Amino acid sequence: MDVATNLARARQRIAAAAVRSGRDPSDVRLVAVSKTHPIEAIREAYEAGQRDFGENYAQELNDKAAALADLADLRWHFIGHLQRNKARMVVPHAAMVETVDSVRLAEELDHQARRLGRALGCLVQVNVGGEEQKSGCTPGEAGEIAGAVESLEWLKLAGLMTIPPFDLDPEETRKHFRALAALRERLGGVTRFAHLSMGMSQDFEAAIEEGATLVRVGTAVFGDRV
Ligand SMILES: *Cc1c(COP(=O)(O)O)cnc(C)c1O
Repeated sequence: MDVATNLARARQRIAAAAVRSGRDPSDVRLVAVSKTHPIEAIREAYEAGQRDFGENYAQELNDKAAALADLADLRWHFIGHLQRNKARMVVPHAAMVETVDSVRLAEELDHQARRLGRALGCLVQVNVGGEEQKSGCTPGEAGEIAGAVESLEWLKLAGLMTIPPFDLDPEETRKHFRALAALRERLGGVTRFAHLSMGMSQDFEAAIEEGATLVRVGTAVFGDRV
C-alpha cells in the first residue's frame, strides 16, 4: 500500500465524516503526521497534493525542514511537547505550533518569532482528559494562555488542540472531543478559535463529527512507525 493510495483513502473518509455530520468537507484539513518516517515518504505525500505535515521532535523537524526546503509551500505543524529551550529550533520552520500549554512557552515563541520577523500560528493544547497526561494545560488555564497568545505581537491565536488519553473505545474518546468543542464555546467560540485540532488514525472520524477542523493522521497515511 503506497502513501498516495493511503492519502486518497484518508481524504475520502474525512469527506464522508464531514458530510455525515452536515459539514463542508473543505472545513476539515488533514495534517499528515510524518514523525519517524523518511524524507522520501514526505515527498511522495507532497506529490499527491498533501501540504500540511506534523512533526513531534524539534531536531527531527529541523533536519526534515532543511532536507525539504525546496518545497516552499509545505506547512509544518509542530505537535509534540515543546520545551522552551527548543523553541529556537522550531520557530524558523513551523507554520503552526499546536502544543502551546503555558504562558511562558508562548512568550518564548513570540521572542523567537520576533527575532526572525516571522508570525507564528498557535493552538492552545488542553488536557481535557485529566491527570493521566503529561502535556497540555487544564481547561481552567486555557483562557489565560489564549489571552497571552492574543496579546503577543508575533503570535496568532488559531484554536485549541487536544490529545485524549488512549482508549480502545472510540465512544470514550468522543467525550474528550466533545469537551474540547464545549470549551471553545465557553471561551469565545469559533470567532476566537478558528481551529479544533483533534483526532488521529484511530478516531479522526469521530473527531470530525464533533467539530474537528484539523485531524492529525500518521499511521493511516504512512503505515506503522519505525
Ligand atoms: C503521533 C501523533 C499523531 C498521529 O498518530 P496516528 O495514530 O499514527 O495517526 C497525532 N497526534 C499527535 C500529537 C501525535 O504525537
